[in-house]
Amino acid sequence: MENLRSYLGGRWIDGSGDRVDLFNPATEEVVAGLLPDGLDYGAALAFARTHGGPSLRAMSFAQRGAMLKSLAGALHAKRDELLDIATLNGGNTRSDAKFDVDGAIGTLTFYAELGASLGDGRWLLDGPTVSLGRSSKVTAQHVLTPRLGAAVHINAFNFPAWGLAEKAAVALLAGVPVLARPAPATAWLAARVMELFLASGALPEGALSLAVGAPGDLLDHLGAQDVFAFTGSGKTGALLRARPNLLASGTHVNVEADSLNGAVLGPDVERGGDTWTLMVSDLVRDITQKAGQKCTAIRRVLVPRERLDELQEDVLDRLSVVRTGDPRIEGVTMGPVATAAQLDHVVGGLQRLIASGARAVAGGAARVDGEGVAGAKGYFVAPTLLRVDDAATGDLVHSLEVFGPSATLVPYATAAEAVALLARGGGGLVTTVYSEDRAFAAEVVMGTAPFHGRVAAVNAKVAGAWIGPGAVLPQLVHGGPGHAGGGEELGGARALGLYLQRTAIQGYGPLVEHITAGGSRVG
Ligand code: NAP
Repeated sequence: MENLRSYLGGRWIDGSGDRVDLFNPATEEVVAGLLPDGLDYGAALAFARTHGGPSLRAMSFAQRGAMLKSLAGALHAKRDELLDIATLNGGNTRSDAKFDVDGAIGTLTFYAELGASLGDGRWLLDGPTVSLGRSSKVTAQHVLTPRLGAAVHINAFNFPAWGLAEKAAVALLAGVPVLARPAPATAWLAARVMELFLASGALPEGALSLAVGAPGDLLDHLGAQDVFAFTGSGKTGALLRARPNLLASGTHVNVEADSLNGAVLGPDVERGGDTWTLMVSDLVRDITQKAGQKCTAIRRVLVPRERLDELQEDVLDRLSVVRTGDPRIEGVTMGPVATAAQLDHVVGGLQRLIASGARAVAGGAARVDGEGVAGAKGYFVAPTLLRVDDAATGDLVHSLEVFGPSATLVPYATAAEAVALLARGGGGLVTTVYSEDRAFAAEVVMGTAPFHGRVAAVNAKVAGAWIGPGAVLPQLVHGGPGHAGGGEELGGARALGLYLQRTAIQGYGPLVEHITAGGSRVG
């Protein structure tokens, strides 16, 4: 049995208080535990600021990139062990686990390469030198320098490896130390990742800390030079971002929250063609991968009214072969949801959607038994497809995210109506338009862009090269307005901005040039 510890102030700490158990969600067996209290966050953050910050800021982007490369290598060397933990404590199938662990390695590697390309600078030049006036006597140059505080990262339970690595990669490359706090329920994987990071020897003292325990007064210690990045539900995000000390000190805050992601089937798409098949595959993948516990999973499927039955039939066909059970069993393609609380959330959410007028055409609002698990144990839900026949039915399908293996078919008539329905989500992470019709795709993509952080336009031409809308890529912005939290992370060098202060340096041209000569330029 694993006893998880925190790594704060440069040492491993046991915590105190009543033990919190971590479970295998397929069997409900206890697999690990932690003591949640007694963590001195004030001292831990002070240590990060005084030790980690100066060391990171003294390193060039290339050196920080090399550090990230070592961290990626450390995970790669123990990949199988990490995949096993994701299965035991997260209920992940092998392929779900790879999505998390390989996502962590891939994002660290991407930012390692970005660091190498930024070279010897320790801060960034932002845009060209600007002449102020007719001559070049007075000029200005925007620069981006690392904040002198620490970054606190609060992560959700669904991606313990990727969630830790993707946020840390960006902050560390920017030159800012991190204190990461994974969700306790699945923290075993994050704790093991932390051990491997430390064993790599690549991290300067104080650069990365890990808190496995209660959040306590963690956020009370943040001030003007610190950063707070949160991933989780919109409700918690709204509560935390409104903390008086964060507001009063203007702490940089980034919130990644929930989202009613859309998929729109174009009226031109032929049943059984490549574009149709692409959409069906994406939808089935998003319902079943990680048992639907992906912030980017398709939740609302907008379908021309007259095509609803056909699409439903083909999706049900594919869902009928999904095997839900203990992910360690050969042939099982969908595991349980991660916790007992998640099971309650999913069943309760589906009940509410059904009460609001949606009907279940596959699965339903109930726990089911999982293959290979005896004694009615495990947090299993069947892959569930809901349908509303009237797009005007309630608001719930456009506002309630059921964070589990579920999506809802919604009819629409015109491109304008599809855009209006997507807008009812109040802001989301990603929507995908499946169509060969360029005019339709352009109208929906540009119509819905103000409501999303990412919009995909795909057709038969990308078959074979398309990995689906659920994969968050480090090159592209991740986040979304409104309901999705209003945050932005990843997106290549753009993401560094959260951890850097933009300053316009203006004055005598040659002096400005001399002062800013050491910065790295993006691109
Ligand atoms: P949650 O309840 O909001 O929790 C998220 C994190 O916040 C957890 O680590 C949680 O710890 C912590 N937390 C809760 N209350 C806190 C408080 N008062 N002070 C400090 N930390 C606190 O969300 P969840 O249900 O675990 O996660 C699923 C949600 O996350 C879904 O809605 C999903 O869409 C969203 N999500 C979004 C993204 C994205 O990138 N946009 C990615 C993944 C997931 P405890 O577990 O100890 O409460």
